[in-house]
Amino acid sequence: MIYTNQEIYLGFLERLVNLTHTEVFDHDSYRVLLKDICEYYRIAKGVTEFYPTQRKELLKQGEIFCDFDNGKGEKVLYRYRFITRAKAVIIGTIYVEDNGETWSDEELEQLDVMFRVILGFVSRMRLIRTLEDFGFHDIDGYYNFRAFARFLDIANTENRLGGMVTFHIDLHNFTMVNAEISRQNGDIVLKNYYKMLCDVIGETGIVIRLGGDKFIGIFDRKVKRKVFNLFSGVPVAYDNKNEKFVRVSAAAGVYMLPNPYMLKSPGDIMDKIMLAGNAAKLQTESAIIIFDDKMKKEKDRVKKVQTEFRDGLEKEEFHVYYQPKVDLQTRQLKGAEALCRWFRNGKIIPPLDFIPILEINNDICDLDFYMLDHVCRDIRRWLDEGRDVVRVSVNMSRKHLVDVDLLEHIMEIIDRNNVPHEYIEIELTETTTDVLFRDLKRVVCGLQEQGVWTAVDDFGMGYSSLNLIRDIPWNVLKIDKNFVPKQVSEEDTIVNKMFKHVIALAQDIGLECVIEGVETIDQLDVLRLNNCFIVQGYFFDRPLPVPDFEYRMDRKVYPEE
Ligand code: C2E
Ligand code: MG
Ligand code: MG
Repeated sequence: MIYTNQEIYLGFLERLVNLTHTEVFDHDSYRVLLKDICEYYRIAKGVTEFYPTQRKELLKQGEIFCDFDNGKGEKVLYRYRFITRAKAVIIGTIYVEDNGETWSDEELEQLDVMFRVILGFVSRMRLIRTLEDFGFHDIDGYYNFRAFARFLDIANTENRLGGMVTFHIDLHNFTMVNAEISRQNGDIVLKNYYKMLCDVIGETGIVIRLGGDKFIGIFDRKVKRKVFNLFSGVPVAYDNKNEKFVRVSAAAGVYMLPNPYMLKSPGDIMDKIMLAGNAAKLQTESAIIIFDDKMKKEKDRVKKVQTEFRDGLEKEEFHVYYQPKVDLQTRQLKGAEALCRWFRNGKIIPPLDFIPILEINNDICDLDFYMLDHVCRDIRRWLDEGRDVVRVSVNMSRKHLVDVDLLEHIMEIIDRNNVPHEYIEIELTETTTDVLFRDLKRVVCGLQEQGVWTAVDDFGMGYSSLNLIRDIPWNVLKIDKNFVPKQVSEEDTIVNKMFKHVIALAQDIGLECVIEGVETIDQLDVLRLNNCFIVQGYFFDRPLPVPDFEYRMDRKVYPEE
């Protein structure tokens, strides 16, 4: 059967129009159609150029596609340039062989129509891609959260999420890496590490950057070991020659999707990997923590404490308990530490169940001021009742240190209650950074000037340094129970020697030493042997409610054991 030129043309048009209904422009049928058209109309090469803006066209920053080329095209048959409504520039050029051949008006008209359709089509597809680039990447070219959500959505529809592994990572010490090799090189390291992840994870998963040095992603269980190796630490290059490396490792929170798994929302996965990620970050070494349901319970507990705290404060559910400090030589009550107890719904909540939580968002500061206020009220009342009052120490979380008005705040509370300054002692713990150390020094010196006592709490735990007692004028060193040898018979051990010399040193520079957590008579012997005589511990008393403590205060002397 022989077709007329018009029929062939209409056939081409129909195939074209059908193609425009499919979304896949890179589709083979498009290439076949293009080849058919070009061969029929004796076209050697078709080139389309796409520039997202006119400025990019001037700068020649665009994309050029050559969808058909038989290698013989030299002469331009014609050229279209048009600007879309979104101000993108599309240019199409048709090349033919320079062999004297001619085209009829009818043919040129047909070509014109078809290529306009094709270019319109190209421009639409390119715009969609540009939008994708904007929508699914951040400004540095990393995939963004939307890309993650889209991935989950598609994988969910295809029913292949079950058994996959999702993660959140926070690179370890990246601020230090930036400081060491410069921020610019730090960026290169980030890119390269990201590429390594993408390469290992491949097409079946995705990695996206949340911002800074934080990434999340999802991958197939089969590559788990390889991905985990990257989390645990790998050298990453930051020069072109692959000669300069830094080691990159990550704190990773991982959630293994159950199989089968139906996606509720990306937020559900986010919650879990962030929770596990936060737990991983608390470890000093890079760590991979797998989410389990206990974490969820812990999170709920944190939330509950945080929401109930304000209410408890308002209702005065927090009570001050006083734990006596006793002088071993005279067996007299020397002082007390104020410790917090939360009475809620008929139960007593111990401080370790809520104080670390209140420290997360600085709520602790309000509790500490509340405690100080209540202690001051008690002392004022005792003084007014003519009791022989002892000094009371109050704990201040290190979270206060950044508060420039801390000193004023403390003094305001003490003075408002009209309490002589020497009845109050403030307990602070050691700090971890230089900045905090400066703040700590400022606060302690300020209190000192006001005649308020100061104590280092939990000395010997954590980060004790000699600077702490050399550079800051404390009155009291409270030595943690774990630092105290258990028995005299341990005399020759390192524990014993350290204890002995630290005590001697502290006393030599005029610090009062209080030993915390003394429970047994054996410990008392160790203390006597080392000339330390002020003791706070269950051996004498647990933290006591006010009436019990008042009884102790009035009796003053503890009977012999
Ligand atoms: P801390 O300041 O080191 O207080 C001493 C802790 O040791 C108290 O625990 C006390 O009950 C316990 N203790 C005392 N003697 C013994 C003993 O012989 N054996 C044992 N095993 N433990 C003993 P508590 O009351 O549970 O308080 C725990 C921590 O909570 C305190 O440690 C302190 O860091 C914090 N805390 C308590 N109340 C407050 C507060 O009002 N504000 C702040 N910021 N922290 C507080
Ligand atoms: Mg304390
Ligand atoms: Mg302590």
